[in-house]
Amino acid sequence: MRSTGLRCDLHVHSIHSGMCTMPWFDRICRECYSDPREVHRTLKRRGMDMVTITDHDSIDAGEALRRFSDFFLSEEVTCRMPSGTEVHIAVYDISERQHWQLQARRRDFPAFVAYLREQHLFSSVNHIFSSLTGRRVAADFAWFSTCFPAFEVRNGHVPRCNNNAAAAYAQALGKTGLAGSDAHAVRSLASAYVHVPGSRTKQEFLDGLRAGRVEVGGASGSVWKLTREVLALGECMMREHPLSVLLAPLGALVPLATLSNWVREVYAAQRWGRLTACAAASQQGAWSDCAQPATPHDTRLVG
Ligand SMILES: [Zn+2]
Ligand SMILES: [Zn+2]
Repeated sequence: MRSTGLRCDLHVHSIHSGMCTMPWFDRICRECYSDPREVHRTLKRRGMDMVTITDHDSIDAGEALRRFSDFFLSEEVTCRMPSGTEVHIAVYDISERQHWQLQARRRDFPAFVAYLREQHLFSSVNHIFSSLTGRRVAADFAWFSTCFPAFEVRNGHVPRCNNNAAAAYAQALGKTGLAGSDAHAVRSLASAYVHVPGSRTKQEFLDGLRAGRVEVGGASGSVWKLTREVLALGECMMREHPLSVLLAPLGALVPLATLSNWVREVYAAQRWGRLTACAAASQQGAWSDCAQPATPHDTRLVG
């Protein structure tokens, strides 16, 4: 029998996630083609009790879904760190006004995290050890360890070792571990999710998240799953732009691209997993014994 409490896939994309960031394809291929209503229907069919959509820097999916009592508005904000690197931060249960305020600060990280704190917004660092958003430096983790209450520890599209390293880091720092499919195609929806035991209403679910009363469910990614997702996006691109069918032969290279991406992900997880474990063991995230001494100096953020 299914245990009591509500479930939610906390990392979901829709057609409002913008264009893909890959050179050459950024004019014709979207990050995701899923219609928000179809996303909602599919998540419900697959056993999710609550629904949210975490589009990249957009809350436009909310337009179609805000009438549902089981929906809450969220987004995945693309932030620029003080080091110049990028990171994806999920911010949950926000208002339209908060969305605009977050967007105005996403390139000023100290102001961004100060706003999160001022507004008591619940946020998470997504795919923390992934190379998905480009390079990472040690100073970034010093910010992550002091400024966020939660880390994503089960992403449905990154390798299990990557998720395991994130879970170990979250546990060492006393962070709440979250989960979501990171579905860019309908097929992957609800492949990873959280469960808040005992919650019966949206408010109880959100309170449970904040209190860390969370269990994660579902599976990590695989090369096959990622390949399937990329090919599905290619198919949608050709439907939207019929001339792009001329690029179809490139589809043969997709497995090679996803495999090399997988190797990069595993390498990043091993490298940063080891360094962060060392830092977490010595003084809750201090880097002095493990890597470059690089911690945020803005005292507004500490505590
Ligand atoms: Zn992301
Ligand atoms: Zn995402």
